[in-house]
Amino acid sequence: MAKQNRGPIPHLQPSEFHQCLRCKKTKSASEFYKCSSRPTLKQPHCKACNKEEGVFFRHVLKPEYYWSENGTGYFEKDYRKTLDYYNDYIRADKVPFVYSIETPSGIYIGCSRALFVVRKGRHKIDYMRYVRGQKSNFIPGLHKAFDKEGENWIESLETMKILETFPKSFTQSELLTKERGYIKKYEKQGITLLNIAGTKNHVRTKTPKP
Ligand SMILES: [Zn+2]
Repeated sequence: MAKQNRGPIPHLQPSEFHQCLRCKKTKSASEFYKCSSRPTLKQPHCKACNKEEGVFFRHVLKPEYYWSENGTGYFEKDYRKTLDYYNDYIRADKVPFVYSIETPSGIYIGCSRALFVVRKGRHKIDYMRYVRGQKSNFIPGLHKAFDKEGENWIESLETMKILETFPKSFTQSELLTKERGYIKKYEKQGITLLNIAGTKNHVRTKTPKP
């Protein structure tokens, strides 16, 4: 029997329910945006899911599109509201890894349990916030190295790559030990590290505890 892939299916009325292909919930048709090219005349994902996907795009994949010089960018307005969603997303992926970012001034080593693209997006956001004077996630060595590159800083961020992945059962301290291992290994090779913690730089800059 031939199956029609395009055009409306006559028996589907606008008042009917649809299942969202993303969250799998069945919702009324008004919870889906229109899409004339699909048999159901509705988008495959519900409005709530569309919104979440938009958040992911704006805040993780392409945050630079949503920043403005004067602080009225989309990201700034919505930052707090979306942080929970964002953090949930980050926690959702549990494959720990150690990564590097190469800049002309040296290499930064980091570790994360987030999705790679999410961690990279956060580096982007953190640096852009620092440039605008918000130092909550200031990474001194890395951000100063980006500063030296001017507009080309993003090219250094593009060198970000995974050095090693670890089992999901890895604890945070095991992961940090691996991270320190890479730092020590690169230091031994005479490579300049942009990390402060875990390097020789740490000893020099450490402030005494009160
Ligand atoms: Zn949905």
